[in-house]
Amino acid sequence: MNTQDWIELDGAAGEGGGQVLRTALTLAMITGKPFRIEHIRAKRNKPGLLRQHLTAVQAAATISGATVTGALAGSQSLSFVPGAIRGGDYQFAIGTAGSCTLVLQTVLPALWFADAPSTVTVSGGTHNKAAPPADFLIRSWAPLVARMGVQQTLALQRHGFYPAGGGEVHASVQPITALTPLTLLERGALQQLKAEAIVAGVSYSIAKRELDQLAKRLTDSAVPLQSEVRELSAIEGPGNALLCDVVHEQVTEVFTGFGERGVSSEAVANHVGGHVRGYLASGAAVGEYLADQLLLPLALAGGGAFTAATASSHLLTNIGVIERFLALKIQVTQSDNGVVQIALGKQGIVIK
Ligand code: ATP
Repeated sequence: MNTQDWIELDGAAGEGGGQVLRTALTLAMITGKPFRIEHIRAKRNKPGLLRQHLTAVQAAATISGATVTGALAGSQSLSFVPGAIRGGDYQFAIGTAGSCTLVLQTVLPALWFADAPSTVTVSGGTHNKAAPPADFLIRSWAPLVARMGVQQTLALQRHGFYPAGGGEVHASVQPITALTPLTLLERGALQQLKAEAIVAGVSYSIAKRELDQLAKRLTDSAVPLQSEVRELSAIEGPGNALLCDVVHEQVTEVFTGFGERGVSSEAVANHVGGHVRGYLASGAAVGEYLADQLLLPLALAGGGAFTAATASSHLLTNIGVIERFLALKIQVTQSDNGVVQIALGKQGIVIK
């Protein structure tokens, strides 16, 4: 291969985390462009490939018949030369509590454009800090990509929390030939606020305290908070997560907090409540996390626009990687009320 054919990436750029690699893997599979990356996850405490990133590399390589160098635990550089994407039945085991959803989000967009239907099962963590919980993928991200034409179903088979892991998420995908751009500037009217406190091998009272405190934090909301405790078998734990779905006409956001040793149930609820309140006050269509996860599907559709509560460094870093692979212009503009507008288009779009 000619050296000028390679896309060269610096994993230390911007956020300097795992997303640079995962976005590159997805886009390499879909565009057929090979890439080399140095300084993988340079800005993290433990730089290089952890089990989750390694599984994402191996999964992408399996699905696209890629030739890979540097796919070793701890590696900080990697080269990836994709082949054709093949639909099929795939199973990937992370082997730790590393995030199943981040591995799934790496390979699913490629399978949307495969030559045949696929099923994918990923085992590991399903509810991790600093990653989308499976509930977020299923109730927040998936409905929006479905509106763009994606035909997939996602199911949480078994919960997996840090540090035990052992969870499982399943996806089945019918291939499509193109995505429809999505315009999501308004979220519409608030319809529901639903909280779920999950406990697995952890006292019921923890869930109850979280839900009581969250209700206090959201007492002045325009709709009443519905609350539910979900008690799982101890085998799926130990683990505790507090989820709050904010359902608007156009979009559902899911905000999450995790119980951990040394952190009170009230603090977990205050964390989630703060995020919910911040999002409700912002008036934006999507929150910080959904914003950086919507970018890639919109880029694959070749256009679209959305408003977000904030432009995180994840979002800006992801834009940088996407623009290396696709002939797209992505504009981020901040309006007077603090809401950020993100517009993608072949020539760039100006939103009023
Ligand atoms: P590292 O940076 O250590 O490599 P990583 O591989 O987990 O970590 P990041 O680059 O930090 O990857 O990306 C994390 C992803 O998880 C982002 O897309 C972000 O939007 C998403 N995310 C983080 N927290 C949440 C949350 N609470 N809900 C939904 N999504 C989340």
